[in-house]
Amino acid sequence: MGQIQANTLTHMYCDAVIVGGGPAGAVAARELSLCGKQVVLLDASQTTRQKIGESLPGAARPMLDKLGLLPWVENAASLTNKGNLSSWGDDKLRETDFIRDPYGCGWHLDRQHFEQNLRNAAVDSGAFLLRERLSSLIENDEGIHIQAGEFNISTPWMINACGTSQFVASQLGAVRQKDAPLFAIYTWCESDSPDSRSTVEAAPSGWWYTAGLPDGKRVVAFFTLAQQAKALLRNKNHFISALKETTYISRHGVGEKIIAEPLHITEATASYLKKAVSEHWIAVGDAAVSFDPLSSQGIYNAIYTGLRGAEAVNTALNTNDHSLLSQYNERIKSIRDAYRREVSQYYRQEQRWSRHRFWQIHQADRE
Ligand SMILES: Cc1cc2nc3c(=O)[nH]c(=O)nc-3n(C[C@H](O)[C@H](O)[C@H](O)COP(=O)(O)OP(=O)(O)OC[C@H]3O[C@@H](n4cnc5c(N)ncnc54)[C@H](O)[C@@H]3O)c2cc1C
Repeated sequence: MGQIQANTLTHMYCDAVIVGGGPAGAVAARELSLCGKQVVLLDASQTTRQKIGESLPGAARPMLDKLGLLPWVENAASLTNKGNLSSWGDDKLRETDFIRDPYGCGWHLDRQHFEQNLRNAAVDSGAFLLRERLSSLIENDEGIHIQAGEFNISTPWMINACGTSQFVASQLGAVRQKDAPLFAIYTWCESDSPDSRSTVEAAPSGWWYTAGLPDGKRVVAFFTLAQQAKALLRNKNHFISALKETTYISRHGVGEKIIAEPLHITEATASYLKKAVSEHWIAVGDAAVSFDPLSSQGIYNAIYTGLRGAEAVNTALNTNDHSLLSQYNERIKSIRDAYRREVSQYYRQEQRWSRHRFWQIHQADRE
């Protein structure tokens, strides 16, 4: 396989372009490169900015091991997560202890470090990493033509791994369906709490989450409706007061620590594409199906679908056989159905605030 020399070319041709260098895109790029395909991995992420989404369950261990990615994860300055604590449905705090889990403990990742390691693994396998943003694309009978910065790239296959961003999906004419609205308002702070386990606590207008991070820091997030999240973003004192009203999250002593830290906001609404596969493209990771962060399923699914999507594209490139692509599309539907059943059951368990808007919206969406 010849290496792509992008510094001498502004027009490239390759077997597949992967748009998005998060976990799904990096894994897909690595897999296709290992199969001997010429791959461009296009990524526009800002590597200096901290990224939320740190919890990876131990259930990912066998898959990472099989892929040869376990060392890349364990090198990512990750912290062992020995269990989850949850106050949901009543005032009690329940513990799920991972020590007895057949897959072992999970991880709290330094997310940037983790993703950088996965991209390095892809580049190590021969993928060409182009730090550019896809700005436009045209699909025709032969394939897809992409514009990214100064580069024009033509390819028979594009893997959409750009997360929940609507831009690329709408350029491809794909329709994104959304579940009940969910927004996260969050921050990171120094922490001297000795307990790094994940803690979830339901509240009248949403739910709180905190977890210890590898560098002695802690993430604190509140998941709620857009209006409430925006109001808390405007007034940090209200965020701190709401945090102090919690029974368990506040015990980590974070109230004072976040005074000097900026608050961030992001949409966390679960969503999916009605069709994750077409003639010249396939969607993987959040681009295909994304989950309520309560499920901690996003990174696992990104790695799994990145792998399966790449296998299906590789077969289509080798033999023009599209049956694996159809199977992949069905698999995405079954993942989404199983997720909906599980998350609905979880939201229905919380009946203390069933007259509050957040719970009404989230419980009605799950009937
Ligand atoms: C608040 C919050 C908390 C979460 N917590 C967890 C958690 O604890 N555990 C968990 O498993 N999951 C969590 N998730 C979900 C998890 O983060 C996602 O499921 C996961 O990031 C999906 O990976 P991905 O590779 O599909 O997409 P992403 O990680 O979103 O990566 C997409 C990449 O595409 C790039 N990109 C976008 N548009 C373009 C473009 N036009 N051109 C080039 N590149 C582009 C982006 O820069 C980015 O690098 C959380 C999500 C949220 C919102």
